[in-house]
Amino acid sequence: MNMKKIPLPQDYFDFVKWSPKKMRELAACSYEQKKSVYEEVKAILPELRTFKNTVVALENPYGEYNDLFRKLSILEQCSPKSVIRDAAHEIIAEYSEKFIDLDYDRELYIAMLEYSEGNFSDEKKKLKKDDIKLLEEAMIEYRRAGFLLPENAQKLIKTKLKKLSLLSQQFGKNINDYDDAIVLKKSEVDGLKESYLATLPKDKSGNYVVTLAYPHIGPFLSEASNRVKRKELAEKNLKKGGVKNVTLLKQMVTLRGELAHILGYKHHADFRTETRMAKNAKTVEIFQRDILKKVSPLAKAELRSLSKYGVTLGVKKLEHYDVSYVATALKKKLYEVDPETVRAYLPLPHVLKELFSLAEILFDLRFTKVDLVLWHKDVLCYSVSDGLGEYVGHLILDLYPREGKYGHAMCADIALSREVEWQSGKLTPAVAAMVCNFRAPQKKGKTTIPSLLSIGEVETLFHEFGHALHMLCGRARHEAHTGANVAWDFVETPSQIMENWVWNEDMLRRLTKHHETGEVMPQGMRSKVIAGKHFLDAYSYTRQILFGTLDLELHMGKVVDAAKTYREMHKKYFAIELPTKETLFPAGWGHMAGYDAGYYSYLWALVYAKDAFSLFEKRGLFSKEIGIRWRKEILEKGSSEDELLLMKKFLKREPNSNAFLKSLGVK
Ligand SMILES: [Zn+2]
Repeated sequence: MNMKKIPLPQDYFDFVKWSPKKMRELAACSYEQKKSVYEEVKAILPELRTFKNTVVALENPYGEYNDLFRKLSILEQCSPKSVIRDAAHEIIAEYSEKFIDLDYDRELYIAMLEYSEGNFSDEKKKLKKDDIKLLEEAMIEYRRAGFLLPENAQKLIKTKLKKLSLLSQQFGKNINDYDDAIVLKKSEVDGLKESYLATLPKDKSGNYVVTLAYPHIGPFLSEASNRVKRKELAEKNLKKGGVKNVTLLKQMVTLRGELAHILGYKHHADFRTETRMAKNAKTVEIFQRDILKKVSPLAKAELRSLSKYGVTLGVKKLEHYDVSYVATALKKKLYEVDPETVRAYLPLPHVLKELFSLAEILFDLRFTKVDLVLWHKDVLCYSVSDGLGEYVGHLILDLYPREGKYGHAMCADIALSREVEWQSGKLTPAVAAMVCNFRAPQKKGKTTIPSLLSIGEVETLFHEFGHALHMLCGRARHEAHTGANVAWDFVETPSQIMENWVWNEDMLRRLTKHHETGEVMPQGMRSKVIAGKHFLDAYSYTRQILFGTLDLELHMGKVVDAAKTYREMHKKYFAIELPTKETLFPAGWGHMAGYDAGYYSYLWALVYAKDAFSLFEKRGLFSKEIGIRWRKEILEKGSSEDELLLMKKFLKREPNSNAFLKSLGVK
């Protein structure tokens, strides 16, 4: 059945004018509505339960609630008015808590159980595969929340979860509050740029203060020639989070393990991976180990060449605080192209035009600008349709920094496509917003210099666009399955695949057009830009796998002293020792609260993205045949089928890590 998407209602974007009062009213109303639907579902007699009045009923208020809160969320991140941002923030915080209490209701589980053990067997043959998947997933979530256990075990889970949440918050807070710095005399600033020094605070005697904040420590470790000072700052950074967090992390890991045991899992890592693509910790372990084995010899070779080059810079033996410094100098020597010169070839309007044209060539999508004023005059809106003129969704671009706006890059789904009503055969419209912080256009006399992007920003644009396509193209029937609502370790695959085009010589030529002369970037410069991208690749990925391994093994109960294990791994794979007393890592690693047993996902999703991209490399980078297959099998399906199965259908074979390894030069 070809389900049509209904067009966006004319008044859809009225939400950008909501007042705090209106937002509060709507939130309260949505809460009451959800509550009353829940009451109705609970009151149905077991023999009268159907898929529609129980499973769909419990799924749909979820959708409507999310529709409202997704709008509030984009206002919270992007509204130019602080009163709106603050009000949205408050409402979201207040209701998130309220909704947890509402959803965590044993009677809702009983309702689903009554249906799945009752009328489901009769109705099953009439249901579609994704309907059944929805029910199964809901039952799994209830089991994972402990609803199948006796009441005392459930109470214990709740107590432990609350304690864990407090400990995690404290862990994060200790990292944020952790304050340490070095003092830098004017005579010690060799190698550092004036523009960087201007950003540093000063102490009473006029000395510079370099803190552990990323904008301070990052450039310092890569550019400061003073080795003693680099050592001092790097060692302080290894202590980040402090001894307090060493203790907290131990307690958190123990608690997570206890919770997993109560729920019947061997360890927390198995619990976390169960509902992801990986399915269990063992699979992740093998995945990481296999790649590590092949990549780490290359990483060692890269470090050897750094060591060799380090000698010319006066670094006799490469230490942990030298790596970034020597790497920056070597990269400069081999591949330096003036960043401003590169930017001049990458004006945003042209890059965007080429990006849309790529999406047309590959995925048969058309982007038409719509004249609408949204939350700010710089925000652009496009209507997206396919080659047959069928409506796909709306894309919003909010690309320049503003005071109070979300400071990084992201793509948010404001509306998700899902079936209007169960079995109606019609889909709701999709709206995705890409939020970035690129250099704004600048007025220079009578002319305006367009926004000029760095090559890294072009990559960011492609990445977020990949998320947007996933959200816009979604055609799954249920909210839980549509768009980017996929397994956690697959979310970054549709975004990361798009990055590959940027680093292709032919595509990079298309993307460049000097903002003054209109010329494409010279071939020599393009080659340098692309070669520079892969500098120290093996070392970076090995580091990533070491983090992933530490995280996984910690949550598999295999690690007693996390800092000691980290030191040992560092020595084994990089032949560089970390100081015993100073190394408290992972005490300062924010991922341990929230991304626990999940760090592997970055690489996991990337390996799938590289594998999928290899099909384009084989059949042509601009192959519509493969592009349409990607849209139909991956982007449109969301998680209405198992993601691994979808990948197999797309690839027409088992996925593997060959393409990823090949991109690193593994033979
Ligand atoms: Zn992403």
